[in-house]
Amino acid sequence: MAGLDLYRAKRNFGITAEPRGRVARGKTKAARVVIQRHDATRLHYDLRLELDGVYKSWAVTKTPSLDPAVKRLAVEVEDHPLDYGTFEGTIPQGQYGGGTVQLWDVGTWAPQGESDPLKDLAKGHLKFQMNGERMRGHWALVRLRDDAAKPGRKTRHNWLLIKENDGETNRKDPDALQREVTSVKTGRTLEQIAGAKHGKVWNSNRPDGKAESKATPKKTATPTRAKKKTQLTKAAKKPTTKKKPAKRSR
Ligand code: MN
Repeated sequence: MAGLDLYRAKRNFGITAEPRGRVARGKTKAARVVIQRHDATRLHYDLRLELDGVYKSWAVTKTPSLDPAVKRLAVEVEDHPLDYGTFEGTIPQGQYGGGTVQLWDVGTWAPQGESDPLKDLAKGHLKFQMNGERMRGHWALVRLRDDAAKPGRKTRHNWLLIKENDGETNRKDPDALQREVTSVKTGRTLEQIAGAKHGKVWNSNRPDGKAESKATPKKTATPTRAKKKTQLTKAAKKPTTKKKPAKRSR
């Protein structure tokens, strides 16, 4: 499928707040990069490099490592529209990618050499410079050979994201990026972004954590009948609160 057809086919824009987007025409001065931390079925990092009017995208299954010896699996996913680069919020459950999306890093990127990055990607080896707020320096994306035993996966090529040797490596603290848990745009944690969507439900549970500490049962305590009842009531109430128009928190 060409352009954003696959992106659009996977989504119901009547339900999700994600942008429908379009393929951008004309060259931009500096190619943008965005990394969205996405708390879906599994927490992952969506790396998006602006190229050819769209964001070429990979789902990186673990926090990028600053140690060149540590390779991260990066699953190629469909091209995303450039409008997606500012998206932070919640994708409704049941929708494609349902979960919370956080703007984890933004900036620009550039190919390291003179070669055409589109051709490099076609060849399966792109060396690039990251000028993000958190991810910086030289990185490489290297495509793995497709698994012949899984022909259906042809559209989901597996790549490796690797830190390259430069002044930005950190072998002593390769997991430093794991401590970056807030949005670079809004400073919010994933929990805060998720909470903003269902303001009422979320806030009632944590006025400065007072109610939370009361409600949290001691490890040794067995759940009482009363507590069980409360949980059931909460669960039953959920669909009702969801239907109410969500309060915009920003
Ligand atoms: Mn994702």
